Amino acid sequence: MKKEDIQALALLLSVPKKIAIIPHRSPDGDAMGSTLALYHFLLKLNHEPIVIAPNEFPDFLAWLPGSENVLIFEKDKENTTKILQESELIFTLDFNALHRTGEMEHVLNKLQTTFVMIDHHQSPDDFAQFTYSDTSFGSTCEMIYNFIAQLDKKQFIDKTIATCIYTGILTDSGSFRFPKTTGTTHRIIADLIDLGAENTEIPTLLFDNNSYDRLQLLGRALQNMKVFPEFKTTYTSLSQKELDTFHYVKGDTEGIVNYGLTIKGINFAAIFIEHRDENIIKISFRSQGDFDVNQFARNHFNGGGHINAAGGKSSLSLEATISKFEQLITQIKI
Ligand code: 5GP
Ligand code: MN
Repeated sequence: MKKEDIQALALLLSVPKKIAIIPHRSPDGDAMGSTLALYHFLLKLNHEPIVIAPNEFPDFLAWLPGSENVLIFEKDKENTTKILQESELIFTLDFNALHRTGEMEHVLNKLQTTFVMIDHHQSPDDFAQFTYSDTSFGSTCEMIYNFIAQLDKKQFIDKTIATCIYTGILTDSGSFRFPKTTGTTHRIIADLIDLGAENTEIPTLLFDNNSYDRLQLLGRALQNMKVFPEFKTTYTSLSQKELDTFHYVKGDTEGIVNYGLTIKGINFAAIFIEHRDENIIKISFRSQGDFDVNQFARNHFNGGGHINAAGGKSSLSLEATISKFEQLITQIKI
């Protein structure tokens, strides 16, 4: 963050405030880890922080310290809107465009409050008075660590805060293997472990909590895979019917798209998931190397994200969405 912004924020944070902290809709490990890390940090500075998530967070993150205090906008619009209106400062973490909060966008748009954006996605919108946006970071959690360090308050990072930050760095880096993982990332991780983050327990809590149904759903997705070696591309899909068969719960499809990239010679993987209740096909894209899935998602599927990991949506049917995708991959260089 720019020095003058840090100084201005340090001044703002020198007096106790009501502060709302917001992750993106359908928050992942980095979104929840960063918002909860900041929540615990601001508590220690004697503020009154509250995390308001646009919608439910997945069960595999429900062990995160403080998650029991997270309010869900879409479950309690009246109360959360009031809290947002009364907030004196609002942090938006792990997203850079207000539409990523879904319906909550309409409430946020009307507020006159000071916004602070901390995020690592491409092409930030200009809605915040303070914008800490840097795509060179692998996670928002790593940026939160830097933010605290820049405020000269690293001594406030305790086991709880370290655990939250560790979680987001771990999940957004694909367990420390995505290209944005640097020596500095590992030095921060080392610091977090020294501060008490449990580096065996955290991945166990995150990754070793599959249900039998979830593994069966994964099996179905793997069976549904189509591979196009000539375009170095693979995709899979899950229909609403298939989700129902395996008693889908939020979070069950997380990470399935990554299996596509484990096929030798494949640089581009996609998953199409039918959500009848919202009448959309939710899409995840992953790539390896130079193929920019953020641009692809923006250009064709109303989405965005990072160069190697992005998401989007389609209001066509599942079949029509897949046809569109099959057409597109014949026309681009992967
Ligand atoms: P996932 O595929 O795991 O849902 O998302 C991959 C990355 O792309 C994440 O960083 C996520 O925040 C971003 N992303 C997912 N869906 C969308 C979308 O619809 N719009 C934008 N701008 N980014 C998205
Ligand atoms: Mn992130």
